[in-house]
Amino acid sequence: MILTGEPGCWIDVMRNVKTALCIKCGAEYEAGRETYTCAKCGGVMEIVYDYKFIKTQINREKLASSKELSMWRYMEFLPIEEGSRVGPMRSGWSPLYKADTLGEILGLKNLYVKDDGLNPTSSLKDRASAIAVTRALHAGNGTVACASTGNAASSLAGAAASLGLKSVIFVPERAPQAKQTQLLIFGATVISVRGDYGAAFRLSAQAIEKYGWDNRNAAINPYLSEGEKTVSMEIAEQLGFKSPDFVAVSVGDGCTIAGIWKGFKDFYAAGLIDKLPRLISVQAEGCCPVNRAIEQKNAAIEPMEENTIADSIAVGVPRNGEKALAAIRESNGIVVNVSDDEILAAMRLLGKSSGIFGEPAGVAGTAGLAKAAVRRDIPPDALVVSIVTGNGLKDTASAQRAAVQQNLIHIEPDMNLLAEELVRRGGIRH
Ligand SMILES: [Zn+2]
Repeated sequence: MILTGEPGCWIDVMRNVKTALCIKCGAEYEAGRETYTCAKCGGVMEIVYDYKFIKTQINREKLASSKELSMWRYMEFLPIEEGSRVGPMRSGWSPLYKADTLGEILGLKNLYVKDDGLNPTSSLKDRASAIAVTRALHAGNGTVACASTGNAASSLAGAAASLGLKSVIFVPERAPQAKQTQLLIFGATVISVRGDYGAAFRLSAQAIEKYGWDNRNAAINPYLSEGEKTVSMEIAEQLGFKSPDFVAVSVGDGCTIAGIWKGFKDFYAAGLIDKLPRLISVQAEGCCPVNRAIEQKNAAIEPMEENTIADSIAVGVPRNGEKALAAIRESNGIVVNVSDDEILAAMRLLGKSSGIFGEPAGVAGTAGLAKAAVRRDIPPDALVVSIVTGNGLKDTASAQRAAVQQNLIHIEPDMNLLAEELVRRGGIRH
């Protein structure tokens, strides 16, 4: 899809965007230039929109009648220059399920699950990558690069392939096999770095600087959480232009939860919803630097070890921590830390109650929600959305650990033996 103008006609105009603002010192920059961090203080930038202009372009009726069933239905809220070509991949517009069985178990009457594992490369990160490759192509850069715990990487590689761009991906060597395989299938050059995510990130930053590749590192590139925010816009629209009371999501680098908050704020500023939700920030007990800073009131984020099976959120030094903290604080959010056992239990719970298969980090939000519900932090009548951020097939080793092995019956193809086995087990287990 070409937005406006002719192919190859690069007009660097984003009428909907005002500036890029440093969240640390408040310095403003012209948006659209590939300035990722503040030249004055090194702070992370935020994209500021002209809501007055956006209001003249979009309203509930116009959105509701849109036939664009992807994140591009929210183009008025995205930092995409006129004349850009967006890829053919259908990122976004994932289903929002009313989860009655799960809600009954958790004591929540109005519970919904947003299954973002159903994106093209099976994670929410596809929303960010769609922006990254569109901007890279428009800027004339043929190679995109990033460091990632896995999902952002496979997502970037897939999105790049769909537009004929090359990708160079740095992953910590512990990244699950399925995610590394995904990268190779998408034709990426994969650099598996010995050490943790921090080590992969540092090496990628040096290489990007040296070789001039397009920098898709979410913490540095402020345009990416702008893609991730579309998940909130969809939730609000799918609920009939209503904001939930609570939104639960897992937190690693901080980019996703910051994007989620921005999406609701954008819709609110444009008059499309009339309130904002409270965020439930869920981290793993073995790696919870963002939540720990919130619990310690005004404390700064301190690095932590990366000790959890939820690899996508095993981020000891969150690169977008400041934005995450701001999102949780502004929304009067709740923080919940979950153990690996609770994450594995949530995988079973979601699968059994809703038919949704999430990876460990993907279901951590639901694990945290379950804990918050038990603590009675959430009123039973509240409108609640749990976002599943990645598909379970991305990490089958962890899924094997979560699976109920007793339900696996090995048997000869003989009906009498089957009947005997079922009697011996007292019927079919659930
Ligand atoms: Zn600054």
